[in-house]
Amino acid sequence: MNAPVPPPAAAAKKLKIATTSLCGCFGCHMSLLDIDERLLELVKLAEFDRSPITDIKHFGPCDIGLVEGGVCNSENVHVLREMRAHCKVLVAVGACAINGGLPAERNHLDVGEMLKKVYGDMPGLQSKVPNDPELPLLLDKVYPINEIVRVDYFIPGCPPSGDTLWKYLTDLIGGRQPRLEYQLLRFD
Ligand code: SF4
Repeated sequence: MNAPVPPPAAAAKKLKIATTSLCGCFGCHMSLLDIDERLLELVKLAEFDRSPITDIKHFGPCDIGLVEGGVCNSENVHVLREMRAHCKVLVAVGACAINGGLPAERNHLDVGEMLKKVYGDMPGLQSKVPNDPELPLLLDKVYPINEIVRVDYFIPGCPPSGDTLWKYLTDLIGGRQPRLEYQLLRFD
């Protein structure tokens, strides 16, 4: 069965797009900015809701949610669930969102032991493991986002190129099932 696509953007009503970076490096967001002058075309068709690009802090109802990064702490879980609840279509952007990516290299280590080693044993950093209640709790592993919420689309790459993101977004905004030609598909 095909994943949902939002109804095409009508001239009178722009689609709303939210983006977030969970446990990622912001490289996928940089790739989005790599669509360069096509950003001007994009803002005619859609407006950005909560996103590091707008600095809006709360989600409103959105048509498309783009998620960069995997899930490594309790705050990531909260933000991701909120985004799923507010977005008609949720897209995992990049390797970290799809399979945990580089941050998931820690998955074979014990988190408690790792923190004790870093904060207790590192020369010059002999201190307690930070435990301020404001700090989000680390999860035992870094999880792909589809292990926490339902995901409609996956765009591979580390990061996917600006051209790839442009093609995907314009397909979705145009109400079409997104299709990537071979040249736009990458896994590195
Ligand atoms: Fe950064 Fe690559 Fe992860 Fe994107 S997929 S957040 S570019 S490490």
